[in-house]
Amino acid sequence: MTTAPTLVTSDLDRTLIYSTAALALSMPDAQSPRLLCVETYEHKPLSYMTEAAAAGLAALARTATFVPTTTRTPEQYARVRLPGPAPRFAICANGGELLVDGEPDPHWRAVVRRRLAAECAPLAEVEERLVRTADPAWLLKRRTAADLFAYLVVDRPLLPEAWVKDLADWAAGRGWTVSLQGRKVYAVPGPLTKSAAAAEVARRTGAGRTLAAGDSLLDADLLLAADRAWRPGHGELADVGWSAPHVTALQTRGVAAGEEIIEAFTAAALS
Ligand SMILES: [Mg+2]
Repeated sequence: MTTAPTLVTSDLDRTLIYSTAALALSMPDAQSPRLLCVETYEHKPLSYMTEAAAAGLAALARTATFVPTTTRTPEQYARVRLPGPAPRFAICANGGELLVDGEPDPHWRAVVRRRLAAECAPLAEVEERLVRTADPAWLLKRRTAADLFAYLVVDRPLLPEAWVKDLADWAAGRGWTVSLQGRKVYAVPGPLTKSAAAAEVARRTGAGRTLAAGDSLLDADLLLAADRAWRPGHGELADVGWSAPHVTALQTRGVAAGEEIIEAFTAAALS
């Protein structure tokens, strides 16, 4: 039996934590789970987990190496106040930043930037395309994150599917990936992955088994690289029926899926 710690790398938004729009509380009101607010933005509550999920995560973080693994920038991640001990490692900016005790690791930052410069088109070229083609009729905000990738906040009902597909085709030819998540369209360099940063954390911690969870296209590589993984019944991966032999596709949607994922992590970490 191995004594190496289990490494749990999990996406946050719509995997462990949920905005009110993503909660999917389908049960009768009187049976809805109590919720814990884990993020406040501009003085208003923004993201939640169920109380049971919060307790489960705090316990999990004491038995396994829990690594929040998010496309959020370090600043956006800093707003999330997860229950349990502060994670030693956190993966932000889709793998572009590795926080160690809350501070970006300069070595990892340099490794990533070298790889991107060598392997895909520069951010400026993608930005130029976004500026030129995004229609103000549905474009709400245009942002770059950590000088690594770009995203748009859009009026989703007005966003033409064909525009997203055209962008994805154009981006693929330049080594970039496009992912649509809720009100955001992400354009991310192909080599900028959560799994590369997770492998770095595994190397540094001497991890044994690896577990992962995520809901979007940007999580697929993370799930594939793990020994076991879970995805919720909602999200970009569920929408396309994405699966892999070692990935459990849950039926549960919304915040209840977050609770189920934490239960599954705990059972797997203890087995
Ligand atoms: Mg997500």
